Amino acid sequence: MRAAVTEGVGAMVLRERPEPAAPGPGEVVIRPEAVGICGSDYHFFTGELSDAAGGSQFPRIQGHELAGMITAAGPGCRAELGIGRRVAVWPLHPCGQCYPCGAGRPNACDRLTLTGIHLDGGLRSAWPSVSGRCSRSPSAIPRSRRWPSRCRSPCAP
Ligand SMILES: [Zn+2]
Ligand SMILES: [Zn+2]
Repeated sequence: MRAAVTEGVGAMVLRERPEPAAPGPGEVVIRPEAVGICGSDYHFFTGELSDAAGGSQFPRIQGHELAGMITAAGPGCRAELGIGRRVAVWPLHPCGQCYPCGAGRPNACDRLTLTGIHLDGGLRSAWPSVSGRCSRSPSAIPRSRRWPSRCRSPCAP
């Protein structure tokens, strides 16, 4: 698969990477169709991501605001998340233990991990994920307007 890899400050390069493995139980492979670029991505790219947000760690496949199509689905995925379905992806990995998580605000987690910043993200032609992180996106929405709306920038005020 092709991936846009940020290899250092200001250096994003197209690379060939191995295709994702066949999805296991509850897993899917997504072909990204729209990937947003927000302030967090910019600060990561310029090496200016704050220490509080984990800093910029290269190499990284960026992209956490992602919508795409499921191209493979393992056993146990919800029926609405079958092959050919369009989805948006929840990019946050909250700790589940801090005060905001306990208060039902995982988007404000003190120790969150973010796809595309701390983990490889969606600027690639095939992206493995778990179906529980996917929300179905109506196929009638034009491709250019299929944006996930779940970003919580780690560098937001
Ligand atoms: Zn937390
Ligand atoms: Zn963002």
